[in-house]
Amino acid sequence: MEQHDKSRRKFLYDLSLAGLSVPLISSALQCTDDKKTNPEIMIEKNKKAGKLGIALVGLGNYAGGQLAPALLQTGNCYLAGIVTGTPSKIPVWKEKYNIPDKNIYNYETFDSIKDNPDIDIIYIVLPNSMHAEYTIRAAKAGKHVICEKPMALTVEDCDKMIAACKQAGKSLSIGYRLHFEPYNLEMVRLGTNKIYGDVKKITSGFGFLIGDPTQWRLKKAMAGGGPMQDLGIYCVQGICYTTGHEPIAVSAQEGPKTIADKFSEVEQSLKWQFEMPGGIIAEGEASYGYELNFLKAEAEKGTFELSPAYNYGGLKGKIGETPMNFPNVNQQAKQMDGIVLSIKNNQTSIVPGELGKRDVKIIAAVYEAMRTGKKVII
Ligand code: NAD
Repeated sequence: MEQHDKSRRKFLYDLSLAGLSVPLISSALQCTDDKKTNPEIMIEKNKKAGKLGIALVGLGNYAGGQLAPALLQTGNCYLAGIVTGTPSKIPVWKEKYNIPDKNIYNYETFDSIKDNPDIDIIYIVLPNSMHAEYTIRAAKAGKHVICEKPMALTVEDCDKMIAACKQAGKSLSIGYRLHFEPYNLEMVRLGTNKIYGDVKKITSGFGFLIGDPTQWRLKKAMAGGGPMQDLGIYCVQGICYTTGHEPIAVSAQEGPKTIADKFSEVEQSLKWQFEMPGGIIAEGEASYGYELNFLKAEAEKGTFELSPAYNYGGLKGKIGETPMNFPNVNQQAKQMDGIVLSIKNNQTSIVPGELGKRDVKIIAAVYEAMRTGKKVII
C-alpha cells in the first residue's frame, strides 16, 4: 500500500536538494554505475570490506527517498535486502541497488530472514503502528534493529521491543538522524557545556502544511496522533539534547482545526510547555497546518539557534547574530554509519531504544495534558 503526500514529498525533496552540495563520497559497490556487478559478488565484496548488510522494511518515501540513496554513501554498511508488500517495486529496487533475489522479502516471508547471513540489521521504515511488531519479529529473527521514530505508540510496546532485542542479544537503535548532524550537535555542545552559561529558556517548533487527506499520518490508529508524533518529537529531542535535561511535567493546548477534512482523527496543531529541572522555560509547538522549523536557546550570556533546525539539509544556525558555519552532511548516511559502528564495536547505541521510549513517554504525557487541560507529571 502506498500513501502519497505530494506536498510533504516536495517539501522534503527541496530540502534534500539543499543538502546536495555535499560531495558524494560513495565507496559503495552497488551504485547505479556498477550495474554489471553480479549482485552476489557485490554482497561478498561488501562483506569482505567489513560492511554490515541492512534490509529496509517498507519502501515508502523515507526509505526510497533518503535511506537507500544514503546507503550508497555509507562506509560501514550497505543495502543488502528489502522487504516490501508491493511486488511492482521490486524490479525498480533490484535494478537501482543491485539486490539479489534471495534477499528480497515480503511481509509473509519476513521471518525467514533469520536464515539469511547477508542481513545483519533490519531497518523498520513502516507506519508508526507497525514499528513494535516488526522490531520484535526482527529481533526474533536474530538481527540488530534500527526502528524509525516515533519508536512505538505506547510505552508498553517500547518495553516489549527493548526486551525482545535484549533477549536476542541484539542492538536496538532509533532513527534519530540529528544526533549525527553538525548544527544540532553544536546546539548540544553550546547548551550542555554551558558555553554561554545556563540555558534559561528554550523554544522549538516544527510544522508544515500536510497534503493528501487519506494518508496514514492522519489516521490515529496508524500514526498514534498528528504532528506531535511526527514533528513535535523533534522539538522534544531538541529541548532535551540542548539543555541536557528531561522534562518533569507538561501542560499542553490543542490548536484550532481549520482544515476540517483532514483532522477528524488527530490534532492539526498544538503547543506545550515543559517544566524542566532548574526552572528552565521550555516551550514547543508542532503543526500540520503551517510551517515552523526552529530550535532556539536563550542562555545567561547569549542566544544560539537553528532555523531551519530539522530538515535533511540546508540547516542554518547563529550565535547571537553570527552565523554558524558547518558542512551539510548526509544525515542518514552519518546516522547509519554511526549506529553500525556501535554495533561493530559492541558499544551501546548513541540512539538506543531507551531514548525512543523516553520520547514516547513524554509524547503520551503531552497528549494527556492536551486532553485533560491539566498539568501532567512525566
Ligand atoms: P510512507 O507512507 O511513504 O511509507 C510507508 C511504507 O510502509 C510504504 O512503503 C507502505 O507501502 C508500507 N506499508 C506497509 N504496510 C502498510 C500499511 N498497512 N499501511 C500503510 N503503509 C504500509 O511513510 P514514510 O514517510 O516513509 O514514513 C515511514 C516511517 O518513517 C514513519 O514511522 C515515519 O515517522 C518515519 N520517518 C522518519 C523520518 C526521519 O527523518 N527520521 C522521515 C520520514 C519518515
